[in-house]
Amino acid sequence: MQKIKNYINGAYCDPIASKWLDNYNPSNGSIYSEIADSNVDDVAVAYKAASEAFPSWSNTTLEKRSRILLDIANLIDEKLLPLAEAEAKDNGKPLSLALAVDIPRASSNFRFFGNAITQFASEAHESPGLNTMNFTLRQPLGVVGCISPWNLPLYLFTWKIAPAIAAGNTVVAKPSEVTPMTAYLLGEICTEAGLPKGVLNIVHGTGPSAGQAIVEHPNIKAISFTGGTKTGEHIARTAAPMFKKLSLELGGKNPNIIFADCNYQKMLEITVRSSFANQGQICLCGSRIFIERSIYDKFKTDFINKVSSLKIGDPFNAETNLGALVSKSHLEKVQSYISIAEKEGGKILFGGKQVIVKGLENGYYLQPTIIEVPDDQCRVNQEEIFGPVVTLLPFDTEEEVLKMANGTKYGLSATLWTNNLDRTMRISKQLEAGIVWVNTWLNRDLRTPFGGTKDSGMGREGGFEALRFFTEPKNICIQYEGR
Ligand code: NAD
Repeated sequence: MQKIKNYINGAYCDPIASKWLDNYNPSNGSIYSEIADSNVDDVAVAYKAASEAFPSWSNTTLEKRSRILLDIANLIDEKLLPLAEAEAKDNGKPLSLALAVDIPRASSNFRFFGNAITQFASEAHESPGLNTMNFTLRQPLGVVGCISPWNLPLYLFTWKIAPAIAAGNTVVAKPSEVTPMTAYLLGEICTEAGLPKGVLNIVHGTGPSAGQAIVEHPNIKAISFTGGTKTGEHIARTAAPMFKKLSLELGGKNPNIIFADCNYQKMLEITVRSSFANQGQICLCGSRIFIERSIYDKFKTDFINKVSSLKIGDPFNAETNLGALVSKSHLEKVQSYISIAEKEGGKILFGGKQVIVKGLENGYYLQPTIIEVPDDQCRVNQEEIFGPVVTLLPFDTEEEVLKMANGTKYGLSATLWTNNLDRTMRISKQLEAGIVWVNTWLNRDLRTPFGGTKDSGMGREGGFEALRFFTEPKNICIQYEGR
């Protein structure tokens, strides 16, 4: 059986305690590899390698750093198919999605930050009348920790690692234990691209063991974390006494607000995607759909029609729209919310049932599910389900829909469908969300800030925001003798 080993100091190695975890293929429920079940000792070794690599890497020219990042990007592009196949097998997502989105985005992350670092200049200010010059240096932090979730495995892992190393830091990183495969393959890509040993160290294992050890390490200066809100809160509590710099990208329960004056066909098509792409397991999915009452019945009929034509099945079949959910326990969690919805008076308009796929009978497949909820305060409308489940509610006025859209503890993203410019501005300004998409969804320019408000996190990733996070600003104030 394949072993997913740690990648420390430029080489693959077994976990010190020789403990391994089972890794499942969610499309058929089989165990297909073993993952290093690392602990505090492995993190200590990874930290040592990273701290020894830091002096040299932080003094490596921007040209060389940039070239290595661009080489990593090119190698990811060259290995698009094997990486996408690994992602589909590990996560259950359709291969077509991994080919079109996940893996290309991982290479874009390295390419983007490989270029951005050459444009990331320090500031200088002269203070008139004081013979004083102020410089702001942006210095790398040292060794930083990057911890990522299972839903977009390589995409989100590299979204953190690329800016961290571009800015001159060295890294101890942990991908999700549920989807470690492409992070494992990234190790050999980094070696091939000439990334000096110790700059990136990848430790596999569970959150409470390997993840916790990274957060608790007294000399790891910052934690960039993407995952659930509860885990984020726990990390924040652990890191607070050490005054660690934190970037927390957490859960969401995003509103998708549809006004009658929108471009209806475009809205319908994209709403199917924003509801069910990656089996609804994207933090940005619009899981609460609010529809202006005048088009509510028409939308219901058309949406159900479109969703009923989605194909659920083998991630490796080119026709598949929805693959498997990531794990048995996650499938059970999502199913439990469908039962809760029924108990709360919700009406299942479509889906709700597990799907048994021929030849893959032990896989974790679920129908895309549409629920008409009795009100916006019910649990299925308030709690993050993170699966192929959306709720529908009609609204009459802007005030009413804004109140409902903002009426959860989350504030990650929101989507708005309207062709009225005044309304666009009025509503966008009042939405409690880090990202508002108008007449589009998951449209990302990597220069823009990415992140959420309220319980969806703190800090921003993307563009110079990420490079600011991974550097410490230092003011140097020089007074010179005037004549
Ligand atoms: P999770 O919080 O269970 O795990 C995320 C990562 O944290 C994993 O690598 C896990 O091993 C690690 N971890 C768990 N406990 C830890 C601890 N005590 N200390 C350190 N690390 C620990 O989340 P998940 O189930 O993997 O991912 C799903 C969640 O991620 C959803 O809530 C989703 O909304 C969120 N998410 C957010 C974004 C965003 O950008 N805001 C993007 C993707 C996913």
